[in-house]
Amino acid sequence: MRLVVCKENSVTTGKFSKTNISTMSSDIKSVGVLTSGGDAPGMNAAIRAVTRAGISNGLRMYGIYRGYKGLISNEIEEFRTNSVSNIIQQGGTVLKTARSLEFMTLEGRRTAYENMQKHGIDALIVIGGDGSLTGAGIFANEFNIPVVGLPGTIDNDLNGTDTTIGYDTALNTIMQSMDKIRDTATSHERLFFVEVMGRNCGYLALNSAIASGAEAAIIPEISIEKDQLAELIEQGFRKSKSSSMVLVTESEVTGGAIKLAERVKTEYPQYDVRVSILGHLQRGGSPTAQDRILASRMGIAAIQALQENQRNVMIGIRENEIDYVPFKRAIKKERAISEELLEVLRISSI
Ligand code: ATP
Repeated sequence: MRLVVCKENSVTTGKFSKTNISTMSSDIKSVGVLTSGGDAPGMNAAIRAVTRAGISNGLRMYGIYRGYKGLISNEIEEFRTNSVSNIIQQGGTVLKTARSLEFMTLEGRRTAYENMQKHGIDALIVIGGDGSLTGAGIFANEFNIPVVGLPGTIDNDLNGTDTTIGYDTALNTIMQSMDKIRDTATSHERLFFVEVMGRNCGYLALNSAIASGAEAAIIPEISIEKDQLAELIEQGFRKSKSSSMVLVTESEVTGGAIKLAERVKTEYPQYDVRVSILGHLQRGGSPTAQDRILASRMGIAAIQALQENQRNVMIGIRENEIDYVPFKRAIKKERAISEELLEVLRISSI
């Protein structure tokens, strides 16, 4: 597989050990868990796994509500095994999530640290995206707290992990929506731009395009290099088709689906173009089996990482093996897109 945009190396700090967690020792007696940033299906499965792995290893476990915001406002509750009963199948996060500007200040983080001390919380597990893990790294270094992260985001935009918690569910949701849009697109012989999330990362759009039989994906990694819309039209991509579906990553780089449709209307008026923005429905819904299993494995690995005295690492998964990825590498904004997947889409959509 050749990687485009930016190369990613596979160096990691350490492999997940197969040792039984309970045989390991660390000074950590109690652990707090929070979800932060955008919600993602599977976060509940992760909270459940973290809580139960902690308790089964004799740790006191605390649920922190509303992410860093709740850590600052002291919304903290001790969790028992039944605190996380009946949640594995639920989308969203029972701990709620929030964005916190206050946590971006030293004062805010100091209050957060003081609240941890009040409850006797020694370590933190943060479930969230790159912003949440950036904050986690800063907080850990400033106050010398053991912090481990879990990649909880539908965008699959973190380095050092093949996939993230919530990504598979979002992919399936998009695919099901695409199947429905295809029916109307075909009936009216239209060109449809369907906008999906992903920010600077095109994985959601690219894999959704492959899974739904779309004609193309306009993604940030490629839009940086060339005008994908002009190239598509010049290649006559609709020649033998009664309808066309193009996935677009919501991003400043791609311009988004509405801008692309406006361009088509003025530059290529022969096309009957429509836009569908999937928006927040991509985040919701019951997590797939894959996301539940991933979240359960990663949640248990997070407790193990703390027990092994790992610090400032995100739990990743590479070739179906749990891995520890330093925060610094995980949050680098250079997730490469697979040229093999681009080729699969190109060939399968002729
Ligand atoms: P998603 O990928 O779903 O958007 P995210 O974790 O990237 O999730 P953000 O809104 O970027 O979501 O970040 C969540 C929270 O993490 C912020 O509201 C803030 O409290 C904290 N955070 C982000 N960046 C920093 C930073 N540089 N310093 C301290 N805290 C930060």
